[in-house]
Amino acid sequence: MARMTKDRYAVPLPVRGRRVVVAGGGSAVLGQVASLVAAGALVSVVAPEVEAAIEDRADRGDLTWHDRDWHPDDLEDAWLVVASEGDDRLFRECEQRRLWCIPVAEPAPSDTTGTPGRVTLVGGGPGDPGLLTLAGMDALRAADVIVVDRLAPLAVLGDLPNAPQIIDVSKIPGGRSTAQDRINALLLEHAARGAHVVRFKGGDSFVFGRGGEEVIACTDAGVPVHVIPGVTSAVAAPELAGIPVTHRGVSQGFTVVSGHLPPGHPGSAVDYAALARSGTTLVLLMAVANLGAIADALLEAGLPESTPCAVVADAAMASQRSIRSRLGTVAADARDAGVVSPAVTVIGDVAALGADAHDNHALEES
Ligand code: SAH
Repeated sequence: MARMTKDRYAVPLPVRGRRVVVAGGGSAVLGQVASLVAAGALVSVVAPEVEAAIEDRADRGDLTWHDRDWHPDDLEDAWLVVASEGDDRLFRECEQRRLWCIPVAEPAPSDTTGTPGRVTLVGGGPGDPGLLTLAGMDALRAADVIVVDRLAPLAVLGDLPNAPQIIDVSKIPGGRSTAQDRINALLLEHAARGAHVVRFKGGDSFVFGRGGEEVIACTDAGVPVHVIPGVTSAVAAPELAGIPVTHRGVSQGFTVVSGHLPPGHPGSAVDYAALARSGTTLVLLMAVANLGAIADALLEAGLPESTPCAVVADAAMASQRSIRSRLGTVAADARDAGVVSPAVTVIGDVAALGADAHDNHALEES
């Protein structure tokens, strides 16, 4: 499939398994990097500094980051190069090698004087752009500024007509983060200069997304704010691994809890003994680090060691994988399988269903 536009000939490149060099790690390349990773390219980002969302993908093994300026040797086995517009030396180098080099423009802040500023919270779903809502996509298309998290479907950013300014405020577990106060202030600052600001997150903004706090910050400041719901990973991650969170005759409900604090922690408000008695499917988010302690608390409260469990990591991403286990061994099994955040853990009889299902990460090409 190819398309003609003026003097351009557009063709979707089969980049899977081929090396693509991205020279630069600023917010302007976030969309390209995410699209290339999703398409299976072997992405090398070469830049002394990168945005947190790129560092996160490097930490998770989805791409390689060389923290230095590019060197001609980097182009040796590359099939394609993505570079900031204006890097003439790199464009010349690519031209000589007959290597395609795609320019990425650093968007200039749009002139929004005179327009009323507003904020829209968009839940982006668990990672595949296909799971973003149509309303969410419309809001992104109309945005002047997009404030993003690492788990949002960033691949859609590479293809927006308005070339909005992108601001990465990703929080990496145990790593870089932007304080929530700073995020709220950014939303208000840009809205105050008349911008349509989209806050773009993974899943749904109101499920452990701190969207409620952002709405309060906006309403307190008199800034109009709207929320567009997203597909939450609490339901979608199990589903994409073949697990229904409810199932007639098996489970009449599900309880979603955050496992970011271990049971017994002074800040934890979760009653694990009550959860063990609830008779509902338990869905744990942000629980990778504390899975052993949580399983122990549930066992102590009477759930049998044989209770089926599943851990689904990187749901709706090319790297999606899931493991099936039992409550007695789930923490060790997840560790042995090398599961890292983001992952959703499902505890309850439904976790034994669909065990033959393939991980349905890439939504079938439609
Ligand atoms: N608002 C998000 C949740 C944010 S908390 C939502 O509704 O989905 C972040 C946690 O969500 C992660 O630690 C992980 O437990 C879960 N998560 C988000 N995206 C995920 C994905 N693609 N695969 C697996 N878990 C995911």
